[in-house]
Amino acid sequence: MQKKILLRDDEIPRQWYNVVPDIPGGLKPPLDPETSQPMGPDKLSAIFPMGLLEQEMSDQRYIDIPDEVREIYTIWRATPLVRATNLEKALGTRARIYFKNESVSPVGSHKTNSAVPQAYFNKREGVKRLTTETGAGQWGCALSFATSKFDIECKVYMVRVSYDQKPYRKSMMHTYGAEIVPSPSTETQVGRRILAEYPDTPGSLGIAISEALEDAFARDDTKYALGSVLNHTILHQSIIGLEAKKQMELAGDYPDIIIGCCGGGSNFAGIATPYIPDYLEGKKIRFIGVEPASCPSLTMGKLAYDFGDVAKTTPLLYMYTLGHDFIPPGIHAGGLRYHGMSPIVSALVRENIIEPMSVHQLECFEAGVLFARTEGIIPAPETCHAIRAAIIEATRDLNEPKTILFNFSGHGLIDMASYDKFYAGELQNFDYPEEALARSLANLPKI
Ligand SMILES: *Cc1c(COP(=O)(O)O)cnc(C)c1O
Repeated sequence: MQKKILLRDDEIPRQWYNVVPDIPGGLKPPLDPETSQPMGPDKLSAIFPMGLLEQEMSDQRYIDIPDEVREIYTIWRATPLVRATNLEKALGTRARIYFKNESVSPVGSHKTNSAVPQAYFNKREGVKRLTTETGAGQWGCALSFATSKFDIECKVYMVRVSYDQKPYRKSMMHTYGAEIVPSPSTETQVGRRILAEYPDTPGSLGIAISEALEDAFARDDTKYALGSVLNHTILHQSIIGLEAKKQMELAGDYPDIIIGCCGGGSNFAGIATPYIPDYLEGKKIRFIGVEPASCPSLTMGKLAYDFGDVAKTTPLLYMYTLGHDFIPPGIHAGGLRYHGMSPIVSALVRENIIEPMSVHQLECFEAGVLFARTEGIIPAPETCHAIRAAIIEATRDLNEPKTILFNFSGHGLIDMASYDKFYAGELQNFDYPEEALARSLANLPKI
């Protein structure tokens, strides 16, 4: 048995897979909040380049990866598929556990898979500057790296709580040449308004998105980039699952269960969606999307049209949501603190193809520590959610020989302050406050 399965550079896929045409019941279109009518590419082209909008609206199953993007992918792709033999042994399970190691990218997570093509398509259309938001800092780092490859300026609005907790993410973004401000900031109208009302706010992705959008709207040379949620980000992340499929084949195995952690849904959809055609042809696969119990959009949210940001600037997306003005508690998996879930993952949950699971912060860190002591890599707090779910499934019945594949979305080497808090007993579990849920859901836009 081989511990890890690698692919050669020339075996990296040449096309991404777009699951949209394969979703039973299809996707509902984004709506213009002013008219409640479907929003076409013309209006969205103020913030996104046409190359990405074409992908966003595409119903083609396979879309070519440009050579320039593929060449940058070779810096870290193909990523290894690893059999977690030591973890299996520690659990005493007959389950075979594989993980796809996306932590080997330059910034330590899967986010570069989308950052690079996003920078590329902006560059191709003459964009000089990109704005974005970042939660835990992973996406900000990924976009800073990608814009440095294409000589584009980058400005990152970083959620306040992460800006304070993760100083080395800032240093990384600086290294790649980006500019970073904590969000809410005093540099935008929406930031100033929120600071006036809630001076001590930890911030949220929803607020940071509003700021980055306001900045992009204000300047002709600037567009905006989003690291998750949208169809084109999931398209780009499909490279994870496409590679994993080849590698599982080389391992002579096939997954019964596919697991990923869910913030906006991009890494999970990336590993899962390339298996959807097999599922639709009758293969028995369970797809499990794992979210924090404190920010449970899939398990406690509502499937409805909602804004992607607090200031209600985005188109309305049809997704599982906790409400656009919901501010999640400052848990340490910052990348999972988002009120909504991608329309693609939401539709697959609606169709009962994806099962959502919610887990608590402390059991996730415990799982992360066990993983570090067995397989050696220290997982990002987000990734710990996927590991926790893999352990739950592998230990449900220790004698059942099943195959589990999970996505190892990123390492936690820049998140050690969260681990220190965990060891010091300073972390707690949060349940979703029901009252706040009722309040934010009452503010959903009326369509
Ligand atoms: C951003 C991030 C996530 C969550 O984002 P998705 O779009 O749901 O994938 C998960 N893990 C890591 C390491 C991240 O950086």
